[in-house]
Amino acid sequence: MIRGVPAGRQTTLREPVTVTGVGVHSGSPTTLTLHPAEAGTGIAFVRCGTAGAPDRELKADYRSVTATEFATVLGDRNGPAISTTEHVLAALHGVGVDNAVVEVDGPEVPIMDGSAEPFVAAIDQAGIVSQSAPRRFIQVLKPVRVAKGESVGELRPNSRGLRVETEIQFDHPLIGRQVFVADVDPDLFRRELARARTFGFMRDVAKLWSAGYALGASFENTVVIADNRVLNAEGTRFADECVRHKAVDAIGDLSLAGSPLLATYKSVRGGHKLNHAVLSALMADRSAWAYVEMPATRRLRGHAELAQGFASAAYGPDVS
Ligand SMILES: [Zn+2]
Repeated sequence: MIRGVPAGRQTTLREPVTVTGVGVHSGSPTTLTLHPAEAGTGIAFVRCGTAGAPDRELKADYRSVTATEFATVLGDRNGPAISTTEHVLAALHGVGVDNAVVEVDGPEVPIMDGSAEPFVAAIDQAGIVSQSAPRRFIQVLKPVRVAKGESVGELRPNSRGLRVETEIQFDHPLIGRQVFVADVDPDLFRRELARARTFGFMRDVAKLWSAGYALGASFENTVVIADNRVLNAEGTRFADECVRHKAVDAIGDLSLAGSPLLATYKSVRGGHKLNHAVLSALMADRSAWAYVEMPATRRLRGHAELAQGFASAAYGPDVS
């Protein structure tokens, strides 16, 4: 919660902040700057730094997704523009930043350490400020479900905020079945999710490399899992780091709704493709959701109000 600021107001960054790193798929050095933005902007990406070409601006919107194979790629009718958007989106959404411009000087958001934490640290360095406009939520009114092979994703009504129920099943002795369930608020995101890193299997690496992916992947930014052990010298950050990372990806991908969701998102064996399919199915069914606002000048008192469809105050931004 922002001290003294109602949870129902939109937020942005106090000032710009820059991070540098490499793209996990391209391996190229990349600079990313988070800029404050006007209320109502949402999250926008600007792809700059292409010699002889104008900057390209893209709204972080599910309709801008051009690929979901190894990362969530945003683009427009001129083609893909920025890849691996999901972790910075998860960080912004996870700590409650509504409006920001994310400027990237290459084809990919830098992977940093493979988690959302470096972006959370950058946001904290900049600071979060509230704006006068009320925050608008997308309230899910009825369940929307998508099944793709062994993957199943579902959004269900949850007037209290965003809840994730993430399950993975890998035929691997180190992972097997993992489940992570949580009501997502800024504290929870910082404590339980932000540090969970991208993971990959050693057996897949050669395949990825030959396809031109994961050229920047290393022990610095990926939990690398071999037949019977994690190869990173420092081990894992959580015993169930993999499923937590899936939850981070889901939070980033679902933020492409453009407004925070009041919903429970259940994902079994999911990934970017499933997240995008479920969100697209929700948004396509105009009877399945509605915009709602929490009055900016009013604080919630109890569950009776929550039940009326206002968001939980705990879902407000965290700038304390
Ligand atoms: Zn990820």
